[in-house]
Order: sequence, then C-alpha cells, then structure tokens
Amino acid sequence: MEKFEKPIYVTKPFMPPLEEFCEGLKEVWENQWLTNNGPVLGRYREELKNYFETDNICLFNNGTLALQIALQGMGISGEVITTPFTFVATTHALYWNKIRPVFCDIEPDYFTLDPEKVEELITPWTTAILAVHVFGRPCKLNALADIAKRHNLALIYDAAHAFGGRVNGKPIGHYGDLSMFSFHATKLYHSIEGGMLTFKDPGLAQTFNYLKNFGFKSETEVVMPGTNAKMNEMQALMGSVVLNYMDHLLAKRKQVYEIYKERLQDVPGISFSPDSAPNVDYNYAYVPILVDEKEFGMSRDALYEKFKEYNVFARRYFYPLLNEFACYQSVSISKPLTVANQVAEKVLTLPTYADLEEDDVNKICDVIISV
Ligand SMILES: *Cc1c(COP(=O)(O)O)cnc(C)c1O
Repeated sequence: MEKFEKPIYVTKPFMPPLEEFCEGLKEVWENQWLTNNGPVLGRYREELKNYFETDNICLFNNGTLALQIALQGMGISGEVITTPFTFVATTHALYWNKIRPVFCDIEPDYFTLDPEKVEELITPWTTAILAVHVFGRPCKLNALADIAKRHNLALIYDAAHAFGGRVNGKPIGHYGDLSMFSFHATKLYHSIEGGMLTFKDPGLAQTFNYLKNFGFKSETEVVMPGTNAKMNEMQALMGSVVLNYMDHLLAKRKQVYEIYKERLQDVPGISFSPDSAPNVDYNYAYVPILVDEKEFGMSRDALYEKFKEYNVFARRYFYPLLNEFACYQSVSISKPLTVANQVAEKVLTLPTYADLEEDDVNKICDVIISV
C-alpha cells in the first residue's frame, strides 16, 4: 500500500466559501468597527440564541477564557470534581481560579465522568462538578444532576466538543447549570477562535459581561477586576458564516464515522464506543478507537507510529491523563483512576473532518486492516 501524498491530520479546519466571508468583510469595512460588541457580533449572538434555543448565552474570544470566567462569575471555589481524561484547558481553568481539581475516574463506554465514583470524592470543600462531554458524547446527565442536587453542587459542563449535539430533542447546552463551548478552528464548528457559555440563571449574564470586558459598567465605573476576553467582529463573521453549514458539517462527520465503524468494528482488538442512545443526537465530532495490543497484535503506540509511515497523523487523545502532566503531578489522587488509565493507554483518535474523502477514510481503514 502506498503512503498518502499529502499528510492527513486528525482534523482540518472547515473553510467556508471565500465569497461568503468577503461579503461579510465589506460590511465590517463599512462599519469601521472591529471589536467591542459590534453589529456583526450582535447579529451572530441572535443566530446562536436561535440555534441553542435560549437567551442565556455569552460570547468570548476563546473557550478557555469562557470557562475561567464562568467559574469566577459563579463563585466556584475550594474543590471541584472533574475528569483527568480531557484537554488540559479544563483543569487549567480551575487552577487559574485557585480551585483544587479532584480527579475522578471515567466510565468505559463513552469515557465521561463516572457518576458512581463522584459521590465518594465529595468533601466539605466541594463546590461543583466539572464534567466533559468528551468527543461530543453526552455525560450521564441525569445521574450527575441528581448528585449535584442532593449535595447542593454546581453542575458545569465543558461542552467544547459538543456543538450541534442534542439530547431529548434539546440542544446539549440545556443540561446542567452552565456549559462551555469552544469555537476553535480545530473543532467541528468554529469561529477561527471563540467560546460561548450557555447557562440557566439569567442573572449570570451581566457578571460574565463585566468579567470579559475589564469590569466596565459604564465609561467611568469599573465594578470588578475583569479581564479582556471579548469576541471580535472577524470571529463573529466567521462564526456566522460557518453556522450556515452546520447540517453539512454534522452529516459529513456522521458519514466518515460510519465508514470507519463499518470497516473496523469486526477487526479483532479494535473497539468503538457503543452507539448513542435513541434520545441522543450525537455530533460525531471525533472517532476514538481502543486498540487492544494482545488481540490486535500491535500496541496503540506502534499503530500510531505505523500511521506516520503512511503520512497519517492520528492523535492519542487523551494521553497522558491530566494528572500525569508535570504541573498536576502534585494533585493527590484519592481513588484509583482505573478506567481512565486503561483508556489512555489504548485510545487513538482517527482523522475526521468535512472534506475528508470517502476514499481516504477507506485507505486509512486499509492501513489498520493490513497491519
Ligand atoms: C478545545 C478545548 C478547550 C479549550 O477551548 P479553546 O477555545 O481552544 O480555548 C477546552 N476543553 C476541551 C475539552 C477542549 O477540547
């Protein structure tokens, strides 16, 4: 088998038709307004309210700052129970708020926080649960809501991967007290860079607006030590143009996922997450597989290296676990992270993006099957 002529990365940003972006640029030039709550942002915000079926949204220049501001604005402190199987920004947002992460194990089906292991980690200092819809798979929403309610904890979702996902017919941002979405170029949906919060309590909007704009209430009043985390007009324009392609982006991701699953599910030693429950509209954001070395006859790392020989750059999301990174090694682990450790050792995330050709997906499958 021949290697790919051009490298295939795990993802590639979606570029909408240039003319559509240029049309919008003309308007920005006419407005001569580049940032600070401009008219394009205002219109984009309405489009997102519509898409997410809520008025309670707030836009940011990236997802990490959105999450940091969410934690600060909600007054989260002390300890927060969270997952080690995620992108580092989830835990960084806690640290920037001087909150101690308490790492909890994940469940083996979709790799989200395991509600059965959350409760034993609650202490008098626990103020919130920060769970991640990792790979876009919804967390165990009911079980987590039940625990949060019984222990009077805030329930916050890092929904960075979950744009476009729905549960019980409702956008996924409707669950929990608050959700953070990332619009980074590498995500399924993007605004170049960007972030958004959706939340239950409408009173939070004002606090978030202060915090993302230096705490300004008016020209002469600063009511809190805010930071600068505003979304600008270029981001809003890209976000608005890309939003029109959501159906296309979701359909393509699903198509790619289904080819992989069809071709690989019976390969010994390769496994996929179970299909989502009927009440879930999954966004197919990522294609994680687990590689069992004994059954497959090759380790995950060896397969990852093998792919490179074919010019395919799969990624080991999420390995290492966050508690393994130098900056979090001092965080004490009170209960074993058994499942998280197993998954981190076996997981490999395969390339998926809207313009990944069907032939290329098949070729990537051929590599796995042939080795
Ligand atoms: C991408 C990502 C973030 C950070 O979002 P940015 O917009 O890149 O700041 C946070 N959490 C998870 C799980 C992510 O994948």
